[in-house]
Amino acid sequence: MMVKSSVLGYPRIGADREWKKALEAFWSGKLEESEFHSQLQEIRLNHLRKQQEKGIDIISVNDFSYYDHVLDTATMFGIIPKRFSYEGGVVPLSVYYGIARGTKDATASEMTKWFNTNYHYIVPELDGAAPVLTENRPLKAYREAKEKLGIEGKPVIVGPLTFLKLSKGYRVSETDAWLERLLPLYVQILQELASEGVQWVQIDEPILVTKLSAADLERLKTIYDTFAASAPNLNIMLQTYFESVENYSDIAQLPVRGIGLDFVHGFSGNMQSIKALGFPADKVLGAGVIDGRGIWKASLREKLVLLEELSELVTADQLIVQSSCSLLHVPVTVKNEARLLTELNDALAFADEKLDELVLLAKAISSEEAVIIDELEKCESALLALKLSDERNRTDIQHAVAAISEQTPERSLPFSERHIAQQKKWQLPIFPTTTIGSFPQSAEVRRARQLWRKGEWNNEQYANFIREQIDIWIKLQEEIGLDVLVHGEFERTDMVEFFGEKLAGFAFTQNGWVQSYGSRCVKPPIIFGDVAFKESMTVEETKYAQSKTERPVKGMLTGPITIMNWSFVREDITREQIAYQLAYALRQEVEALEHAGIGMIQVDEPAVREGLPLKEEDQAKYLAWAVKAFRMSTCTVQNTTQIHTHMCYCEFHDMIDSIEAMDADVISIETSRSHGELIHSFELNTYKLGIGLGVYDIHSPRIPRVEEMTSMIERALRVLDPKLFWINPDCGLKTRGFEETIDSLRNMVEATEIARTKHSLTV
Ligand code: GLN
Ligand code: ZN
Repeated sequence: MMVKSSVLGYPRIGADREWKKALEAFWSGKLEESEFHSQLQEIRLNHLRKQQEKGIDIISVNDFSYYDHVLDTATMFGIIPKRFSYEGGVVPLSVYYGIARGTKDATASEMTKWFNTNYHYIVPELDGAAPVLTENRPLKAYREAKEKLGIEGKPVIVGPLTFLKLSKGYRVSETDAWLERLLPLYVQILQELASEGVQWVQIDEPILVTKLSAADLERLKTIYDTFAASAPNLNIMLQTYFESVENYSDIAQLPVRGIGLDFVHGFSGNMQSIKALGFPADKVLGAGVIDGRGIWKASLREKLVLLEELSELVTADQLIVQSSCSLLHVPVTVKNEARLLTELNDALAFADEKLDELVLLAKAISSEEAVIIDELEKCESALLALKLSDERNRTDIQHAVAAISEQTPERSLPFSERHIAQQKKWQLPIFPTTTIGSFPQSAEVRRARQLWRKGEWNNEQYANFIREQIDIWIKLQEEIGLDVLVHGEFERTDMVEFFGEKLAGFAFTQNGWVQSYGSRCVKPPIIFGDVAFKESMTVEETKYAQSKTERPVKGMLTGPITIMNWSFVREDITREQIAYQLAYALRQEVEALEHAGIGMIQVDEPAVREGLPLKEEDQAKYLAWAVKAFRMSTCTVQNTTQIHTHMCYCEFHDMIDSIEAMDADVISIETSRSHGELIHSFELNTYKLGIGLGVYDIHSPRIPRVEEMTSMIERALRVLDPKLFWINPDCGLKTRGFEETIDSLRNMVEATEIARTKHSLTV
């Protein structure tokens, strides 16, 4: 049979981040709008050309964006929040970017994570909108690819159910009304595509991997019945990804031409469904076998076996070999990496290399096997070399981690008793004040680091500079009147990179950028070997800071789960095992700090929530080992040593039990963005350990007034035990200015004094 290859979407940013650079130049006024459009077109066409040259059969169009594909969908439907002035017609860039980034008169729309990825989309606000089709973007993209490159593109569209589910600003009871408004617009798009002669359209409905209500399933049927009736000749690929679909039998019956399933992240669920219920004979299976989110070469041999198995479950000519999801989530190419260990380099496949894999697999399964036997061999030997490398065979680590993961990580006394011992030792006042760790990374700090990285400064010069910064801020913290101090994290650019660079088992790419939101890209470290502690990472600066003050200075570490969730990780062992390796390494740092006389140690875990599996039934298990990893890294300290943790960025209200199970003596947690919700959840669950709710939002340069913080404190004290309550900002202060930080903290201490006067009698 003839099997075709297809890609679900390609990274926008470009091998040299040219997309990011163009956006930022345009925003800063350095690029005229017309020049901006032509630069973006050039980038877009380059990406299409690359896929064409590599031989991908079905290439996505309209996956490109000027910012975010969900925002594109909303603006295509004229869904513009009322606070932006918009007069109809094609949405101007000023409005488009206003929604994404805010203007001086109107705040930006909220952004949030795209399913369980680190990509953030702009949340559409339906409230008050009157949807109209402002332009047929998929059609425009299709025509461009055809005219300029002769590509018969496959337009990609966010499906109606997913779009509605990800939008806000309407009540559940209004869902059908909204669907009625949107459906005709979708129909118009599809009809215009059909009359243009488009062959395939990919409608993305990743929401189908989550649990849907009976009403939503009904809506799903309405949507796809309507599409089939209004554009009967259009081949719709109903595309799902990131997990297995929940309601396979309903989905299999929809009148679409193809169904795209993820056979990497949803492998077992999807396989089971197909085997149990069969695959409809009238449909094409889009088999997502190449991981769109991972960075590793696939074992082509294994993938071929899988494809052969799948081809027996479908009728002939019903298979398309696909990436499991859009390649948006991986860097562009391994080609520009020059400094990686050979065994690692050879085992990597970023977007461009994944294109090659797809083409090879399609050829191989179409029985052109002889051509590619060589390639298969090459691939297997690269994977084997990495497997056999020293980095993956630190047997001492493997044994130690296996041994400690057998034990239940536990402090030797329960919190209630530790707390008494700690109070006796530290003699902290009621409502102790502290900060989250970092202080402003001024231009001076960044410049110093650059001089040092370029070799213009030697280690001694740089260390002296860091010490000066610590001096300044220890003095300031004392003057402001904070109770528990920090050294300020001036030596760190990034809380994960800093530790990754000092632990064994990590690698850093030069160009492995991935879009996080808008033009913001991140370059996640790669955990490719067994993680091992080499030497202490934070002791020097912390000890120095402690030598400058009588007050306690907290040691600052990033936790195992956060390090893991913000990195690309190896796939030959489980995430759970990786977390335990990290925990074991961090435990050694915790012990080194304690040994150096540091009596309070904070292990930050802002990213715990991000690793939460999409499927509800998998969540408890994940949380259990995440909690265990945290405890593993912190449980061996003396009872008088106070373990702190910090969390931010997300909703915690449904995971208070897990947070409590981490058994940190004190947690500081962000509240100002989740507003009352978190406090409300403490009404329902009592929290029995030390806790500081952030009393001001550090994301804004505004200096919070004393009264605002007083009211935050009073609200929290209605539900939390005053004896266990701490006062701190929402998060680290590294992005803030010098003066504003000092003023804000002064106000925070003043609000604390007021609360102390008011409550000291009652405690
Ligand atoms: N300790 C880190 C800091 O203060 C925590 C950052 C975070 O939570 N993202 O910067
Ligand atoms: Zn934070």
